[in-house]
Amino acid sequence: ARKFFVGGNFKMNGTKESIKSIVQGLNKAQLDPNVEVVIAPPALYLQLAQDEVKQATVQVSAQNVYDKPNGAYTGEISVAQLKDSEIHWTILGHSERRTILGETDEVVASKTKSAIDGGVSVVWCCGESLEERESGNTVAVVERQLAALAAKVSGDDWKKIVIAYEPIWAIGTGKVATVQQAQEVHEAIRKWLKAKVSDAVAEETRILYGGSVNGKNCKDLAKEKDIDGFLVGGASLKPEFVDIINSNL
Ligand code: 13P
Repeated sequence: ARKFFVGGNFKMNGTKESIKSIVQGLNKAQLDPNVEVVIAPPALYLQLAQDEVKQATVQVSAQNVYDKPNGAYTGEISVAQLKDSEIHWTILGHSERRTILGETDEVVASKTKSAIDGGVSVVWCCGESLEERESGNTVAVVERQLAALAAKVSGDDWKKIVIAYEPIWAIGTGKVATVQQAQEVHEAIRKWLKAKVSDAVAEETRILYGGSVNGKNCKDLAKEKDIDGFLVGGASLKPEFVDIINSNL
């Protein structure tokens, strides 16, 4: 069985004080011991979060990483630097980086490969815009993003990837995908993995849903057979993040 996974993507939010207080809140909470949790604060606060975390099931993740080992890349941080700071996870390919920062499918795939080669696991994000959904292209878009990924990674690399399906129209809008809409795409992703990668990768890869997940809607989504957890934005900054982690209790 796939281990349930919940990620908290803080995006560009928080201060030293608020991030410390979020982590302390998690430290005090009763968390389902069968859930793998990662929290992703802004890069500036990774170390602070890392120093503060006391829960054995909670790890700290970056929100992005660059695909060159070192050198003249102003503003970027490397996989080796994450490793050096004992950060073992990064999010990659978030729709905000794809649309606002212009990252292509190929750039995201190449960063994913570099992270994995450097020993950092990846929450790899995909998902369609409202326009793409309304024109009936949801699965085609996600498959295109997956194909770019599969062109760069292989074999055991997949063990270090968690897929997050995040329909762009559901992100930060309060408009969560219905249980059926989410399950349908998750199932399509798993089918694609089975056809294009392998039975084992299809069976073992966690597929998270992200987009307006909160303490109330998480329980029904968590019941679906192809939904293996969540990637949470806004609600990960609030006490209800604990309810999302505990959606199966
Ligand atoms: P919200 O939970 O705020 O909709 O954000 C989802 C997201 O983008 C997580 O990566």
